[in-house]
Amino acid sequence: MVIGGGIAGLAAAHRLRERAPHLDVVLFDQGDRPGGKLRTVELAGGPVERGAESFLSGDPAGGPSAAVRLAEQVGLGDAIVHPTTSKAAVAVDGGLHDLPPGTLMGIPVDTDPAERPADRPGSGPLLRPGEDVTVGGLVRPRRGDLVVDRFVEPLLGGVYAGRADRLSLRMALPALADAAERSDTLTGAVRSALAARRSTPGAPVFSTVQGGLSRLVDALAASLPDVRLGLPVRELRRHGTGWRLTVGSTRDASTVDADGVVLAVPATPAARLLSTVDGVAGVPLGYASVALVALALPATKLPELSGFLVPATEGFAVKAVTFFDQKWSHLRRPGLTLVRASVGRAGDEHQLQRTDPDLLDVVRDEVARLLGVDRLPDPVDAAVFRWGGGLPQYEPHHRDRVAALRAALTAHPAIAVAGAAYDGVGIPACVTSGWTAADTLLEALEG
Ligand SMILES: Cc1cc2nc3c(=O)[nH]c(=O)nc-3n(C[C@H](O)[C@H](O)[C@H](O)COP(=O)(O)OP(=O)(O)OC[C@H]3O[C@@H](n4cnc5c(N)ncnc54)[C@H](O)[C@@H]3O)c2cc1C
Repeated sequence: MVIGGGIAGLAAAHRLRERAPHLDVVLFDQGDRPGGKLRTVELAGGPVERGAESFLSGDPAGGPSAAVRLAEQVGLGDAIVHPTTSKAAVAVDGGLHDLPPGTLMGIPVDTDPAERPADRPGSGPLLRPGEDVTVGGLVRPRRGDLVVDRFVEPLLGGVYAGRADRLSLRMALPALADAAERSDTLTGAVRSALAARRSTPGAPVFSTVQGGLSRLVDALAASLPDVRLGLPVRELRRHGTGWRLTVGSTRDASTVDADGVVLAVPATPAARLLSTVDGVAGVPLGYASVALVALALPATKLPELSGFLVPATEGFAVKAVTFFDQKWSHLRRPGLTLVRASVGRAGDEHQLQRTDPDLLDVVRDEVARLLGVDRLPDPVDAAVFRWGGGLPQYEPHHRDRVAALRAALTAHPAIAVAGAAYDGVGIPACVTSGWTAADTLLEALEG
């Protein structure tokens, strides 16, 4: 059984089918459609992403990312497209400025020694083996507040809606954490993390599926024999040599027995389901909420960028803006300009309490100010997409807590956890997590 039909659960179920076609693979999701945070909807008669927009093209170890490989496996290799431009800017001091090139998530290899507070060779490596700190904790003292607040945090915010001073270095920048175990300066660590990147020079960093990420979801769901929607799994208990699931609403519940379970739901429902399993505790994890405001404007001239980031220190509700049809040529439509703005930073979510019309007004007003124009034209169509508790906020030592959970699960019949709650927020990380969970289950079931 696979519980949760987001990309991690779908990847797990697909892998189970591929590797063990004789098994009855059933996937449960409480929603009325699979895909979780991957969902394409319509805006002004064309596709627009309600949640995730794209995925990394390459794997950190070299070759295509797991997301690219999965898309190829379900016959969507030809539908993979790349941004026309990845040139982004940062909005500071009333203007849009280019992001500095050659940085690692906004961390420059080096800075002017006079401006660099403390990055001198010390008594040993920056981190002990396995030690974890926040990204800000490592970078602030060695590059200063300006670098963190203007570049590192907005870039991290684009992925996690998170704060540099809260996010785990090991989760957000694993290559830098590894390099920091071997280097006594941040300059050395950033240099070696950049050198360890196995990307092909000039290769596109991001990919998406033409027509929208729902195509990937639909292709995966169609490859599975038994997808059951609108069915929350409410309880998970040991039963004989396997598991018993209680499924459905409280008034209309039924039980389903399974030899093995992949649990691919966010941390809070996972912890609730695992609370009935002896000696196992879910991973404590906070989540940030975001809202995306999509605007289909009459054709409007915009700066030639894929979009821009807005540091929290600038005092706007908007934290990032994507010029969708400039970034993705397949989204271009005559007479229309597509813009998507993102609102909501971890710990500062009061902006999300606004009503949809209010949020739309705030976004239109702020985007116009950030672009230095009086106002944006009235949209032809607009939508607000809310993701309450959508993005995990990994704190230092998250990886150790996940390892402890996985170790505790080995005392039980075949069971594995997968998804963004454990192994990283990006789509490729979720796919890999689903594949690994499927392999763990098969190993436990078949030896
Ligand atoms: C707004 C937004 C934009 C993003 N943009 C990007 C991006 O551009 N690129 C990128 O790589 N990543 C992006 N991400 C992150 C990425 O989309 C997610 O981390 C990833 O999709 C999570 O997949 P998942 O399978 O772990 O979980 P989810 O997608 O959360 O799926 C979990 C599923 O479990 C189901 N479920 C929960 N509880 C139960 C239960 N008790 N019983 C049955 N079913 C249950 C839910 O209905 C859901 O379908 C974005 C995320 C958000 C929120």
